[in-house]
Amino acid sequence: SLPSIASRIFVTGHRGMVGSALVRRLQAGGYTNILTRSRTELDLLDQRAVQAFLAEETPDYIFIAAARVGGIQANNIHRADFIYQNLMIEANLIHGAHLAGVQRLMFLGSSCIYPRDCAQPIKEDYLLTGPLEPTNEPYAIAKIAGIKLAESYNRQHGRQYISVMPTNLYGPNDNYDLANSHVLPALLRKAHEARQRGDAEYVVWGTGRPMREFLYVDDLADACVFLMEQGYDGPLVNIGTGTDVTIRELAETVMQVVGFEGRIVFDDSKPDGTPRKLLDVSRLAGLGWTARTTLADGIRLAYLSAPFHTGCGC
Ligand code: GDP
Repeated sequence: SLPSIASRIFVTGHRGMVGSALVRRLQAGGYTNILTRSRTELDLLDQRAVQAFLAEETPDYIFIAAARVGGIQANNIHRADFIYQNLMIEANLIHGAHLAGVQRLMFLGSSCIYPRDCAQPIKEDYLLTGPLEPTNEPYAIAKIAGIKLAESYNRQHGRQYISVMPTNLYGPNDNYDLANSHVLPALLRKAHEARQRGDAEYVVWGTGRPMREFLYVDDLADACVFLMEQGYDGPLVNIGTGTDVTIRELAETVMQVVGFEGRIVFDDSKPDGTPRKLLDVSRLAGLGWTARTTLADGIRLAYLSAPFHTGCGC
């Protein structure tokens, strides 16, 4: 049966960027029975605790937005944490959901699951057709395992566990810690601080030539709820905008939004990572959903909600 506004919907990772956007979108959609647990209330790495929680609460639907996430440097350095924690979170939740008789669930992956050098834009069918980008291979392998876990419970047990693959996300509750963050929040903060200090330049990692696609997180949440409400029960779905920009173009747009008028310096001692990562979003478009927020609008919204933004009137 399809979800109703009274359905019990468990959003994992509700304090993170994606989980908090899902909660906002569900609340805006009139859902009244949203379940959340903080990390101290429920440790998703603890199999027994997760199984007991799901058996007790028996949600009608689960969003797996909880994950250990980070940018290129965090992924590359904390390799063991990224593979171990993501494997545990998804195995505990998916197996626990099955044991508790939860029929529907959505697993959120990431576009880095696709081969490093695959054809662009990336179709869902390109999964497992080539080697991964080495900087985030442990994370990607864990996310691929999550997709296969979900698929396997569907095949063996008739569950309806679907997987979606968002492109690079940004928005409220993003991580702005420069060592661990993704490029967009990092550049927002660096440009903002450069402007405040009156610096002549701000530093962008790599060559500026890689291309990335960016989706505002409220658009992602809208797409996820759209799929849930449709009762979508098919294979993997990419979620993105269908367009990408170079890191240089991104850095320039960020400067405009922030009002920083210095220049960009590229630090090519830092890795570029995958040369290009643009999702083919025709499967989702065929179902009737497309992204609404433009990159410039989204960056403005993200900047206004950033913790370091103090309402300077810019
Ligand atoms: P990726 O999409 O998995 O490669 O992760 P990131 O969002 O961390 O990086 C995307 C691209 O932006 C890479 O080419 C980075 O080198 C580049 N980049 C430029 N400046 C920064 C920065 O300050 N932080 C991060 N994380 N990436 C940056």
